[in-house]
Amino acid sequence: MAETLLKVEGLRTVLEGAGEPVRAVDGIEIDIRRGETFAIVGESGCGKSMTALSLLRLLPETGRIADGTVELSGVDLLGLPEAGRIESGSVRLEGKDLLALPESAMRDIRGRRIAMIFQEPATSLNPVLTIGHQIGEVLELLKKLQAERGMSMLLITHDLGIVSGMAHRVAVMYAGKIVEAAERSTFFSAPQHPYTKKLFASLPEALPPAVSRQVSAPPAPLLSVGDLKVHFPIRKGLFKRTVAHVRAVDGVSLEVAAGRTLALVGESGCGKTTVGKALLQLLRGQGAEIAGQVMFEGTDLMKLQGEALRARRRELQIVFQDPYSSLNPRMRVSDIVMEGMNTLGIGNTPATRSKRVDELLGQVGLSPEARGRYPHEFSGGQRQRIAIARALAVEPRLIVCDEPTSALDVSVQAQILDLLAKLQKELGLSYLFITHNLAVVDYLAHDVAVMYLGRIVETGTTKEVIGSPKHPYTQALLSAVPRIQPGAEPKLARPVIRLEGELPSPVNPPSGCHFHPRCPKAMPECSEKYPGVSTLSPTQKVRCWLYPSDEGAKE
Ligand code: SF4
Repeated sequence: MAETLLKVEGLRTVLEGAGEPVRAVDGIEIDIRRGETFAIVGESGCGKSMTALSLLRLLPETGRIADGTVELSGVDLLGLPEAGRIESGSVRLEGKDLLALPESAMRDIRGRRIAMIFQEPATSLNPVLTIGHQIGEVLELLKKLQAERGMSMLLITHDLGIVSGMAHRVAVMYAGKIVEAAERSTFFSAPQHPYTKKLFASLPEALPPAVSRQVSAPPAPLLSVGDLKVHFPIRKGLFKRTVAHVRAVDGVSLEVAAGRTLALVGESGCGKTTVGKALLQLLRGQGAEIAGQVMFEGTDLMKLQGEALRARRRELQIVFQDPYSSLNPRMRVSDIVMEGMNTLGIGNTPATRSKRVDELLGQVGLSPEARGRYPHEFSGGQRQRIAIARALAVEPRLIVCDEPTSALDVSVQAQILDLLAKLQKELGLSYLFITHNLAVVDYLAHDVAVMYLGRIVETGTTKEVIGSPKHPYTQALLSAVPRIQPGAEPKLARPVIRLEGELPSPVNPPSGCHFHPRCPKAMPECSEKYPGVSTLSPTQKVRCWLYPSDEGAKE
């Protein structure tokens, strides 16, 4: 067995804020071996980040810095609410106790001898990393360095997919304590602690699909988007002349059927959020050049103005990723939920509206007492429930869900996904579900559209696209996602397809098929002409020269 590089014994860290002191780290013991990746997993507030900060002696102090930010791997240390103090314990690096070192010696250690990777999607790393291929590349580089230099890694994350691909050993943290530590294979195949078992049971992968995979006759679309374009002009110089355009959305067509969920997936920056906002007509008047059709039950929303648009818009609502910033902190929950009803004149009297607020809160799993409270008094998951109640208040037919669970802990994610599935069944809602998490797609979506650089490259039923992807980009995305099955070692469903390079700029997309510079199957013709549509089944379509295009078939 490799020698121990870092040994932590009896570490206790106390956070002191306005209220009672909190023991954020409560007597943890860790030993990290030379050349090993050790992961600490756990949900928000479990103490895992405080552990990392304690090891580096970077705990926030009060009254020291008036403003500014101090970032460690994307986490603003000054933004942490309380002051922290190490109460007891030892942290030994190759036998030397870091807690006993003077600060000047500690500065030498930070960055040179110890560096940390935070893996919180909303902060340090782009959410797309959890799709796979980028982390795969980072992941490969770190492994190489590890092998060459005998480097050890402490990985702080709540993403079990990343743990499955990187860690040798795993510790699970709960309420400041390590409740379970094991070799990776034992951790995944035979989790012991009830909390670890609960974490696994909450993964979307572990849940049976919430939607029926039966495809009868294709139901009529409720929403039909045709050749939607959203170009943001780049202006320069004294006269602000337009010198180029960011082609965020560049000819997107998609359909969402009544009572069904279409997942729109793709890398961060591919334009999927812009599609969501544009079809709700939220980008009007913001300087974007918008074209195309957004047919909602036979009416083109793009052609409506004023009152007519407002009346129709009520039937389409949006739930955002971040429940913290999407709710007005100064409004009580009842006012937040009622706001839309008041504006649109839903419910005859204040009493009717008030009664409706109680019903809505019940529908999203909140008690009526919630109505008098403010958003900050709720957890992230509860705030997302409030945001869903607000969307439901105006009786929409379709909700655009923009990464609604990606800022939430695993167990809370599962509850919100369950709630969305339940509401769909009860109310016949349609969802356009914007996500980077393919496990969520498998759980909740009937249909999938894969987006790359402003365009849809593959569509089909979830069974078709996830089970038998045809576009090389979809294949690459799926190949890098480890399938976590509780009670079994995680494994990749297919050999990993490595993509070269980054997502190109939407200002100047590559010629021909936009994917050709990164495509492992690119052919000479791919750089010449954008591929036409190839219909592979009544429901699956792809844009790739590997398949005979419909236009070619007609010729
Ligand atoms: Fe790859 Fe060519 Fe297909 Fe584009 S058209 S995805 S470059 S094979």
